[in-house]
Amino acid sequence: MRMYDIIKKKRDGGELSKPEIDFFIKGYVAGEIPDEQAAALLMAIFFNNMTVEETTNLTTAITKSGDTVDLSGIKGFKADKHSTGGVGDKTTLIVAPIVAACGVKVAKMSGRGLGHTGGTVDKLEAIPGFQTTLPRDKFFEVVNDVGVSVIGQSGQLAPADKKLYALRDVTATVDKLPLIASSIMGKKLASGADGIVLDVKVGSGAFCKTFDDGLALAKAMVNIGNHAGKTTRAIISNMDKPLGRAVGNAIEVVEAIEILKNEGDLELRELSIELAAAMLNIAGLGEIDACRELATEKLRRGEGLYSLKKMVKAQGGNAEYIDNPKLFTVGPEKYEVKALQAGYITKMDTEKIGLTSLLLGAGRNKKEDKIDYGAGLYIYKKTGDYVHGGDVLATLYTSDRSRIREAEEAYLAALTFGNAAPAPVPVILGRVK
Ligand code: URA
Repeated sequence: MRMYDIIKKKRDGGELSKPEIDFFIKGYVAGEIPDEQAAALLMAIFFNNMTVEETTNLTTAITKSGDTVDLSGIKGFKADKHSTGGVGDKTTLIVAPIVAACGVKVAKMSGRGLGHTGGTVDKLEAIPGFQTTLPRDKFFEVVNDVGVSVIGQSGQLAPADKKLYALRDVTATVDKLPLIASSIMGKKLASGADGIVLDVKVGSGAFCKTFDDGLALAKAMVNIGNHAGKTTRAIISNMDKPLGRAVGNAIEVVEAIEILKNEGDLELRELSIELAAAMLNIAGLGEIDACRELATEKLRRGEGLYSLKKMVKAQGGNAEYIDNPKLFTVGPEKYEVKALQAGYITKMDTEKIGLTSLLLGAGRNKKEDKIDYGAGLYIYKKTGDYVHGGDVLATLYTSDRSRIREAEEAYLAALTFGNAAPAPVPVILGRVK
């Protein structure tokens, strides 16, 4: 078999066989197939797409490219969740402890920030002392004792995805359904949970810009998960504006704590409850309405907050920060972005808002960049809100004052104003089983 022939077949619109896909993945991970040939195949897939069977075979090959985690050492149903990536998405920090408080185990491997989107591991590392790398036995111990542990993904889990993702990132081949579906499900199927809830984001801050693209992606991933014997569900949610009010790392942990205290942004709360309910439902805790009520009750009673605190303590973090979020350094430099005109905010280019957070230092431009955990922004006015000239739209935070000017320009460029209020769009746009 020759990689040249595989590229040519896909370039000419052909369908790749399972042996051809396996040959590509094995050879690429082993370093026998060079980046230029892998990039050529990715671009051919980008233009000529993949059938359901090809996408499933690619997913399986990615799953089998490294270790698969055996979670049988953890008692009970293990529920996992994965978001396709967004701006201000701190739901894992809220949902995972609520689910654990309901008695369902969450042994979760999360990612770091990617492009304009944030990552749970970076947010957790904003808590002083918090360890996102744990030996396997300690990870199992924390899940068995506390009900939840969130760690970073080990290098041995789906290494094909790691290599392919980095290549897609620099060859403009990220936003293609079979590539996204196989990347996410390849990792999820390797990480050993019994059931998976996917949060498929659509809108200007997501990799899927339209609802139809998000729906197709959700259906493809749910189909792959269910066929692999994992109960899989998807929620399609709105990423045409940032989720909640905070974007960054420490500032997002503070907002997650606020929600776990049953305060704060209503849309963030609604989506968090919905994701938690879906995880409880696949774990067999009852019909979705009953699961929603259970999750809401645990939230109201502060039991989710208690689980988060226990997890932070068990993973070496300073739990005083959870009791007293004022201890987090946010900033210390801060700057208020004010409206230059009056009118309704009719659109938020959410990708640009994610980039504003990167400009302030909350993410990486290169893999080796250090994160400024106190950097980010807090948004006061969102799509549909009326503003007067001079109103504060958002506060920018950073430790480096020289970053503020460019970030302010980027933030203002992300907003569109108009004379009429846009039609409201709900945070939950659809569900796929
Ligand atoms: N998240 C992933 O893990 N992979 C993708 O391709 C897109 C989002």
